[in-house]
Amino acid sequence: MNYDELNLDHFMEGLAKRNPGETEFHQAVHEVAASVIPYVRDHERYRKSRILERMTEPDRTVIFRVVWEDDEGNVRINRGYRVQFNNAIGPYKGGLRFHPSVNLSILKFLGFEQTFKNSLTTLPIGSGKGGADFNPKGKSDAEVMRFCQSYMTELWHHIGANVDIPAGDIGVGAREISYMFGQYKRLAKEFTGVLTGKALEFGGSLIRTEATGYGNAFFMQEMLAHRGDGIEGKTCVVSGSGNVAIFCAEKLIQLGGKVVTLSDSSGYIHDPDGLDMEKLAWMKDLKLVRRGRIAEYAEHFGCSFHEGRPWAVPCDLAFPCATQNELEEGDARTLVSNGCLAVSEGANMPTTIPAVDVLHQAKILYGPGKAANAGGVAVSGLEMSQNSQRLAWSAVDLEGRLQQIITDIHRQCVQHGQEGDHVNYVTGANVAGFIKVADAMVAYGVI
Ligand code: GLU
Repeated sequence: MNYDELNLDHFMEGLAKRNPGETEFHQAVHEVAASVIPYVRDHERYRKSRILERMTEPDRTVIFRVVWEDDEGNVRINRGYRVQFNNAIGPYKGGLRFHPSVNLSILKFLGFEQTFKNSLTTLPIGSGKGGADFNPKGKSDAEVMRFCQSYMTELWHHIGANVDIPAGDIGVGAREISYMFGQYKRLAKEFTGVLTGKALEFGGSLIRTEATGYGNAFFMQEMLAHRGDGIEGKTCVVSGSGNVAIFCAEKLIQLGGKVVTLSDSSGYIHDPDGLDMEKLAWMKDLKLVRRGRIAEYAEHFGCSFHEGRPWAVPCDLAFPCATQNELEEGDARTLVSNGCLAVSEGANMPTTIPAVDVLHQAKILYGPGKAANAGGVAVSGLEMSQNSQRLAWSAVDLEGRLQQIITDIHRQCVQHGQEGDHVNYVTGANVAGFIKVADAMVAYGVI
């Protein structure tokens, strides 16, 4: 391709040819390329050194067999991955996802998103993502332990506290991180902060569990404040019921919002009175400890349970916090016609491209995940700092730092995304995230 004629269609054609069938990866790159290409066109140093093309090719990908034995003594086989995407501004950093849907396309989309997200945090962290097509749902603790140990027996060769620092994502929480950290420590014969999201007893950080959800609520607060509005008194629809959704709901309630839904893969609960801290504590126990079905909440508190996703419930603010592509074009139209003011993404790429177009056309505030959910990886970055210092900071200190980081991310989005009287947070996040990584890559020369 002649880079003086860089255009989106040619760029995407080349990408699709090099990465056939990787639809989620194509989707993530398309969104970034659409907003970054006009900027690259105006800057010869990026155009000439083909930075965007280099950024869409991971530094390396490791794929491996994970063999383990279930409780009945059957030998089971899964596929493990680690995509080390980009370490221009710091060691590879990003979560591990254990879910049956995991494949190379999904991990490349997540790793690519992580490049921009981690850059936006203002911390020195590069990007990566990994995981396996293993389903922890319905497995015993012993089975999960054997799987995690086997997975780490291969992965440990490729990671390290200054090399690549994985964390949790869907299907990987405190239990899985503990099993993997124990195994790493045993194989590497070292005690370092090689994983984040650890338990407090062995180097974990306060606020890490809450960080993604709290950060998402803070990002919404920033977007609304920029328009002279706030969360107080607003009806909030939240999808998901993992760490992200639950702690997003918690912070929204603390900020005076009324959270009326949460969901899981079976459907959603609609509690028109809104969740309070007591109901939320019950929900935490149900979903994060007992790993039960969300319908139990509806039975217990006498509200309604529905199949599907919660987007038809009228709301002022929407928070997709479950998984990719969970909010489609029709859902976006429903939100618009119900008078929704803003959408802030707790999950990674939960809104499809046509749905984002609908929100933009309606001038609804839309905070993309790479900005709105960056609080999680940001506090992971702070966990790394604490581990390097061999210190532990207080919850008040950490929540203050988290809030400051979200304010900085919002400021960067406004700086690069202002379009007339409207802020395009997609452009803002993509361009701001791009510049820091691109400048580092240009400085390193042709490597
Ligand atoms: N999986 C989270 C994310 O999507 C957190 C990654 C981390 O803490 O390294 O950003």
